[in-house]
Amino acid sequence: CFYAVEGVDGSGKSGMVACIVDHLTANGTPAIATREPGGTPQGEKLRALLLSGADDAWDQQSELLMMTAARVEHVRRVIVPTLERGTSVVSDRYVGSTIAYQGAGRGMAETYIRDLHKQAVGDVWPDLVVILDLDPEIGLARSRQRLSAGAIDEGRFETLDLDFHRRIRQSFLDQAARDPGRHVVIDALGTPEEVRARAAQAIEAWRTR
Ligand code: C5P
Repeated sequence: CFYAVEGVDGSGKSGMVACIVDHLTANGTPAIATREPGGTPQGEKLRALLLSGADDAWDQQSELLMMTAARVEHVRRVIVPTLERGTSVVSDRYVGSTIAYQGAGRGMAETYIRDLHKQAVGDVWPDLVVILDLDPEIGLARSRQRLSAGAIDEGRFETLDLDFHRRIRQSFLDQAARDPGRHVVIDALGTPEEVRARAAQAIEAWRTR
């Protein structure tokens, strides 16, 4: 299966990806962790370009095309070949983030983003999207803490206002509400152990539905 983990900055996605991979592997399903933008050497180069510099370093159209270009590399070189081998894929962000950030955040039309995705990579959508739902104010505080502790070196979120991040959160919730069979929304407030237990339970319920 193809899983994507989505959420606002600081919602705990990368820890959750590792936890889902461990959970699947322990239950007899081999799985790999990957991320967007990134996941391939080409995609990681695009990620570095996208995340470096000021928030307005790229026109929103260029930003969308670069995110999509990174996804083309990711889907063709990693996601599809891995799924074809019978191994599950767990991606830290996917097209849901593009709809949220470049769409709801920056105002690009969602129909355009979806059409571009389809043209670029075909109908490759996650089987399950795990949304870590969190008040962006808390997520941003967590991110800033990690940034000042040197745990992460990318801080685009710092330059953007809270309203932007509120639109991102709402977009994820809207995406889940429109397509509930393919999404689970997990309350990301609590200790990592609490949130992981909620996610493991929700994923098992989905797998045995
Ligand atoms: O998921 P991660 O925290 O690694 O994302 C890195 C940065 O890229 C975040 O600040 C996020 O806001 C931004 N991003 C974006 N548009 C996307 C995906 C991520 O602006 N489609």
